[in-house]
Amino acid sequence: GFYHVNIPQLPPDPLFGIKASLAKDTRENKVDLGIGAYRDDHGKPWILPSVKLAEDLLHHSADYNHEYLPISGLKKFTEEAAKVILGEESSAIKEDRVVSIQSLSGTGSLHLAGTFINKFYRKKDDASFRAVVYVSDPTWSNHMQIFSSCGLATTKYPYWNDATKQLKIDQYVQAIEQAPKGSVFLLHATAHNPTGMDPKPEEWKRILKAISDNGHLPLFDCAYQGFTTGSLAKDAWALRHAIDSGDYHFPGILVCQSFAKNCGMYGERVGAFHVVLPEHDDALNSAILSQLSKIVRSEISNPPGYGAKVVSLILTTPQLKKQWERDLITMSSRIMGMRKQLVVELQRLGTPGSWNHITEQKGMFSYTGLTPSQTEKLAHDYAIYMSKNGRASIAGLNPGNVKYVAKAIDDVIR
Ligand code: PMP
Repeated sequence: GFYHVNIPQLPPDPLFGIKASLAKDTRENKVDLGIGAYRDDHGKPWILPSVKLAEDLLHHSADYNHEYLPISGLKKFTEEAAKVILGEESSAIKEDRVVSIQSLSGTGSLHLAGTFINKFYRKKDDASFRAVVYVSDPTWSNHMQIFSSCGLATTKYPYWNDATKQLKIDQYVQAIEQAPKGSVFLLHATAHNPTGMDPKPEEWKRILKAISDNGHLPLFDCAYQGFTTGSLAKDAWALRHAIDSGDYHFPGILVCQSFAKNCGMYGERVGAFHVVLPEHDDALNSAILSQLSKIVRSEISNPPGYGAKVVSLILTTPQLKKQWERDLITMSSRIMGMRKQLVVELQRLGTPGSWNHITEQKGMFSYTGLTPSQTEKLAHDYAIYMSKNGRASIAGLNPGNVKYVAKAIDDVIR
């Protein structure tokens, strides 16, 4: 063993721990509402038809191989990825003020963002300045540990009011106003994880104005584009408004983009990191890309090729792009349908409490309001698994289990 080194045992990751317990559970009617991965009407993983078509094209193309990609990734992929999130008509793309680099999905993109902030985000007049990253309370549990592993401190801003199942918008804006100038604000671009509740357009305007007025740096984490409404454009509204409206002045905008969910390419690790500069500056563009490339080179040498090739084929083949847009509607509308059915069942059973928040929330998750002891009981007595904090991945519901889940919730609540 390692001489003189104390290596404490850590508990398993909560979400991957749920996955392990679920795999061990032999009950036939078990239900997985844990990890955010889309499932079809039969509870099975779904390979998107657009992905199947792109894979077919890829496998039959003359230059299909498994060579290394460049350090900064597949250029066709990163360029198209920027258009998906910023919009084909984005002023930032037209003015050539976007630096894009391929990442290990959304997590790798956040890690690049954190490393980049830690190394380069400074104030001219204050050498000791180190930015703190503000994350929503609650947020995706991995955010804190990603940023702390990059050497950054994190703190929380008020977001979710458990009692009213609404945003604490006034306290949220107040926290922005009170944060030290130059703080980093992590914003969920769409389909907030875990609450499923995004700010409304008027609320986004208040949030963005406060960030802009107080000289903070916005960091958009976009892991679910297309899952909220089924429309790529609608789900990117806040980010595009922040860039294109001309109403705000940011020191830059950082964008972490994942294709894990919206292409169903979870394990292939397809993503990108974009830095949007306030104005065109060739030298700065090139310097940023060189520094990001150095980080990538030292950490992963070069990003994975397969998923990026598949996604870039979808994005550059009009027929496949159309199919992908249909696939997004298939996924988002099935989830919306299951939300409705769950609420109808709970209301039919007369389950105590109000359940409308389940249909008001959007995207992959519902923050149900179930308590840790209730979720434990669901797992123990009913083989229904979800996060301890009551976050349910609605994609795990289907016509075959929704009644069973509603009845179980009804039982544990009474
Ligand atoms: N951000 C948020 C809010 C997420 O929920 C996720 C996925 N659970 C990610 C980023 C990144 O996921 P991935 O690394 O699989 O792209």
